Amino acid sequence: MAEKTEVGSNFVREIVEQDIANGKNGGRVATRFPPEPNGYLHIGHAKSICLNFGLAQRFGGTCNLRFDDTDPVKEDTEYCDSIKHDVEWLGFHWDNLYFASDYFDQLYEWAKELIRRGLAYVDELTPEEIREYRGNFYTDGKPSPWRDRPAEESLDLLERMKNGEFKEGERVLRAKIDMCHKNMNMRDPLIYRIKFAHHHRTGDKWCIYPMYDFAHGLSDAIEGITHSVCTLEFEDHRILYDWFIDALELDRHPQQIEFAKLNLTDIVLSKRRLLSLVKEGHVNGWDDPRMPTISGMRRRGFTPEAIRNFCELIGVNKRDSLVDFALLEHCVREHLNATVPRVMGVTKPIRVLIENYPEDQVEWFDAPYSPTDDSLGSRKVPFSRELYIESADFMENAPSKFYRLTPGREVRLRYAYVIKCTGVDKDADGNITQVRCTYDPETRGGNTPDGRKIKATIHWLSRAHALPAECRMINSLFTVSDPLADPDGDFKKYLNPNSMEILNGYVEPALADAKPGYHCQFERVAYFNVDDDSTPDHLIFNRTVTMSDDWAKIQKKNG
Ligand code: ATP
Ligand code: MG
Repeated sequence: MAEKTEVGSNFVREIVEQDIANGKNGGRVATRFPPEPNGYLHIGHAKSICLNFGLAQRFGGTCNLRFDDTDPVKEDTEYCDSIKHDVEWLGFHWDNLYFASDYFDQLYEWAKELIRRGLAYVDELTPEEIREYRGNFYTDGKPSPWRDRPAEESLDLLERMKNGEFKEGERVLRAKIDMCHKNMNMRDPLIYRIKFAHHHRTGDKWCIYPMYDFAHGLSDAIEGITHSVCTLEFEDHRILYDWFIDALELDRHPQQIEFAKLNLTDIVLSKRRLLSLVKEGHVNGWDDPRMPTISGMRRRGFTPEAIRNFCELIGVNKRDSLVDFALLEHCVREHLNATVPRVMGVTKPIRVLIENYPEDQVEWFDAPYSPTDDSLGSRKVPFSRELYIESADFMENAPSKFYRLTPGREVRLRYAYVIKCTGVDKDADGNITQVRCTYDPETRGGNTPDGRKIKATIHWLSRAHALPAECRMINSLFTVSDPLADPDGDFKKYLNPNSMEILNGYVEPALADAKPGYHCQFERVAYFNVDDDSTPDHLIFNRTVTMSDDWAKIQKKNG
């Protein structure tokens, strides 16, 4: 169960504030967002982006976008492009754009420096032996027989590793630290390994690649990062992060600070899992509107403002927690409710015939786009003898509590008239083909001059003017709230077969030119966003969020 979030607390911000107050780094604040370009960014990354860029903004500092492209096999330029686009879309601007691979030469020099200082050596143990020699949490490790070889020998071997004289796994460069350290990361960790792989930027220049722990902190130091913010799984690596910088006696020493990852209900994060959903065709790409990627959420109609507000609300702390997806939807709904036009759209249409309305008459009613914000303007909506209404707004045999349309009862058509249902037409199989009504000409604009009460107001469309619209009703991608809780780790068995329901609906003519990315509320139905594949000939709307606020309900239930 999702726990209640403590609104807005952010311990990293407090640390930075303290550092500035103490004059640390001369009051300078420099952060970076360091994605590995091996997939599209997801909502978890948004938390890190908001945090890093947010710190720079708040304290007048800088934030770099650095592609952590030290591992050559999984990386791709397509991913770099999407990451840049997503960061900008979220509303942030990097001060510098860097690639960790740009530092390969410098890192190689530093590796040699460590050897010269007697703090690194080339090892010839096999990967299995290295593992075995390392020991475990309960037992000390033991030194490799190559640990104390002369620096000259290691320097020569490293050079030959670089020149491609050895096969993968035959040689590695290791830091010489402590084979009995209680933190396993300190038991002579690898610095370089051989990998004959093409790199998306350095091509085939290198066949040795630096390990993350070595490359990351030193890249931070090169860029003069002051606060290197990362997620909790790197807490045990901080000691090593510091060791490399100290061992090289660099004059700039960034401070690593770890925070808890964002975990969300109803979805899975992690690029590896998302990639498998894409590759196996469970979704239509990284930007499928059901995906928790930034690009998927954008396509679904989530806004940068809403995502940033969400990240602010959930705060930043040291404890892992599971945040309810409903909170994110709540933030989206709040933002859309305050900003987007209301229009009329019918997702599951049923035909209505106004028997006493003149056959060739069309009236155009003035309809403001917002009940509160005049700046959104208004449009005209056409009214005629044949209409569509939402089939859920009609019931043939309705209970007395059903206030919408049913034989003998009246409803108000938004902006237009009060109508009364007189009966239904059915086909040979008994299916309702059309609802028959009469309208009251005295109620033009929806008023009742005699003061009679009309309990419900419903939306509608003139059939002759309505535009067909494919409505993609986005639902949860999974049938359970915590798909990762599966004992076998098989989250895909909970994929929701109805995660995207396609409805053949209609919208009012004012939406004829609605472009991809256009947000609106179909009154009484849901918030929608025009899909990227939509064209004037084939309008497609994605349901962004429903009208009902599950988060508010959860809050109420929890008191
Ligand atoms: P994934 O496991 O999804 O691939 P990652 O941590 O490997 O994520 P990176 O590209 O290495 O992805 O991450 C870039 C930055 O985003 C890192 O600083 C990382 O800590 C942060 N980050 C990744 N996932 C989350 C998350 N769920 N919540 C907060 N920050 C995250
Ligand atoms: Mg990663």
